[in-house]
Amino acid sequence: MHHHTRDLIATKRCDVLVVGAGPAGLTAAITLARYGIDVLLIEKHRGTSPFPKATGVSTRTMELFRSWGIEQQIRAGSMRVRPVMTFARTLLDESVLAVPFGYPTDEQALTQSPCTPCCCAQDHLEPVLLQHLYGVGGRVRFGVELVDLVDTGDAVLATIRDETTAAVERVEAAYVIGADGPRSTVRAAAGIGIEDLGTIGDFVSVTFRAHLTHRLGGLPAAINTVEMPGAEGVFVPTSRDDRWIYARQWHPETGGRIDDWTPQHCVALIRAASGAADLLPDILAVQPFVMGGHLADSFAAGRTFLVGDAAHRTTPVGGTGMNTAIHAAHNLGWKLAWVLRGWAGVDLLGSYEQERRPIGASNVLRSLRRGPGPEQDPDAGLAGDIGVRYHSDVLHEVETPTRQRVSSPECGHHMPGCRPTAVAVRPWTCSTAGSRCSPDPTGTGGIAWSARLRRRGSRSGRS
Ligand SMILES: Cc1cc2nc3c(=O)[nH]c(=O)nc-3n(C[C@H](O)[C@H](O)[C@H](O)COP(=O)(O)OP(=O)(O)OC[C@H]3O[C@@H](n4cnc5c(N)ncnc54)[C@H](O)[C@@H]3O)c2cc1C
Repeated sequence: MHHHTRDLIATKRCDVLVVGAGPAGLTAAITLARYGIDVLLIEKHRGTSPFPKATGVSTRTMELFRSWGIEQQIRAGSMRVRPVMTFARTLLDESVLAVPFGYPTDEQALTQSPCTPCCCAQDHLEPVLLQHLYGVGGRVRFGVELVDLVDTGDAVLATIRDETTAAVERVEAAYVIGADGPRSTVRAAAGIGIEDLGTIGDFVSVTFRAHLTHRLGGLPAAINTVEMPGAEGVFVPTSRDDRWIYARQWHPETGGRIDDWTPQHCVALIRAASGAADLLPDILAVQPFVMGGHLADSFAAGRTFLVGDAAHRTTPVGGTGMNTAIHAAHNLGWKLAWVLRGWAGVDLLGSYEQERRPIGASNVLRSLRRGPGPEQDPDAGLAGDIGVRYHSDVLHEVETPTRQRVSSPECGHHMPGCRPTAVAVRPWTCSTAGSRCSPDPTGTGGIAWSARLRRRGSRSGRS
């Protein structure tokens, strides 16, 4: 027997409990641990995800990783791809069309940033983040699931269960971060609803390994769309050693069954779609997924906060889901750290939702192909990534002569959001801006701290 009554369960304490070790949870935990905050990260699975999932790591995300000193470790798992989406009859056929899909070329990125984006799958990225988290003193418990949460006003009491021993424990935390993905338990426990913003359709993703790269005429595109009748779909390279995803729409609503996606069926589809009739693909995983978008009604309730897919779920279109998750987690992470360290008042925390919800909403809509896509405006992806401008109660805009105009002459476009008279600060101009810039190195886009916030800085978040 592991317990008789709730009262007999020993209660452990931490400053911040992070639920979910995906990109959002790892980023939030790293950001907090780097400030010396006592953070506990729990993940119900026994390790980070074994699936490649997202491969697009944006310029802004790489800036963040660079600031932590792990840029090269991330790049060690990167693939060489063309940052475009191509269209062809089969993968091996010459593409007839190549369009931007939301990522800049290295040259375009380097006009705005010391970093270039990177193409690297989540099953490389997450272990790098995990090792970094251990290195900065984060505590992580795998195989531990959050079961319930109660916000007492002074703290959050979490009930967690060890999946191996079935032992139930209680954790008391000053704050809880729900980074537990689209079906967030934290979101439900906090009573936060979600709005379904639309669905593109049902898809099946087949992960496989096959000697394909050497048969291509050149580098693969990040997204290779094929139009072979009966096998229409996309190929996405997901490793340096010929592991790929082939994804295709299917129709469970008209009787399609996932059991019909046998290895034989997948091999036949991949052969037809690749144009390599003799290919011997090794099928690694077959996963149905809904290409849909949702947005949480609120990103916070009391001492509980939502980040990543728990707050805003995009479709894979445009490659923003994981990046939006990471940027939001960093935004929340440093704010909680500042409040817990007593450097800022609790009012700072309200700015997380004010700053990040509009971006979450617009990225979800863009990924649903509502709003201008990268095909219409090739700069939209880079601007939406590093040209973000925040508006919140704790920020006020200050014009200083040291700001650097952000535009992208190479592409012949101004960054959207930067009107002809508008300017945005890039990281290396912050220190000379005269007024105090956000410690978030690039995210505030030219907005300095409000003195009001600093005056309130003595109140502790733990109160
Ligand atoms: C096929 C596919 C392709 C994609 N391509 C891209 C792309 O190119 N670019 C991009 O930016 N994004 C892409 N995405 C989206 C990206 O994968 C997600 O946005 C990203 O993983 C979200 O990170 P997260 O940390 O919020 O959630 P997740 O990665 O879902 O992590 C949540 C974690 O919480 C854990 N958890 C859940 N409940 C509990 C609980 N009660 N207790 C403890 N742990 C719990 C889960 O086990 C999981 O590990 C893609 C997604 C898919 C499916």
